[in-house]
Amino acid sequence: MAEHATLVLIKPDAIARGLAGAVLSRLEQLPLKLIGAKVTRVSQELAEVHYQALRDKPFFNELIQHIRGELHHVEYVLALVYAGPDAVAAVRQVAGATNPEAASPTSLRGSLGRMTTKGVMENILHASSDDQEARREITLWFRPDELLMPLYASKPIAGQMRVWE
Ligand code: UDP
Ligand code: MG
Repeated sequence: MAEHATLVLIKPDAIARGLAGAVLSRLEQLPLKLIGAKVTRVSQELAEVHYQALRDKPFFNELIQHIRGELHHVEYVLALVYAGPDAVAAVRQVAGATNPEAASPTSLRGSLGRMTTKGVMENILHASSDDQEARREITLWFRPDELLMPLYASKPIAGQMRVWE
């Protein structure tokens, strides 16, 4: 079994409010290894596949607009991959509950997140919910050669490029 890993996205609300560093500082305290990081635009397609499980929710369109930065006039997210024991659970704990008002006050979402008067949930970061989702999400957001560690099986294509198997 590949080492446990999890995907974190520092969302546009956090970027807009200058909170990316605070999120990184907090995650740096965990006994995990940062093995992938990039700034990236989020296409409509990427957003929809990332959040495919929530397709039927009433807030889906707003969710897609949010992660694409359209609600905060931010054109990128910061995508991170952390590896190590219980990476998924460790990052979820530091992130806190989905709703910032319900999240533990010492968690990232509880201390830095907010509900806006328009009802948008500004909850700072995405964190994978389980190992299976983590694998799906990491292989969606990153190519094999963008990670420091060969987390999952991959195969060579043209030249130096590799793709997930
Ligand atoms: N979300 C929302 N309203 C809700 C539930 C979720 O706007 O009632 C958004 C929120 O940004 C959340 C994302 O949809 O982070 C994904 O929802 P999920 O239930 O997977 O929560 P998470 O795994 O992010 O805690
Ligand atoms: Mg989720």
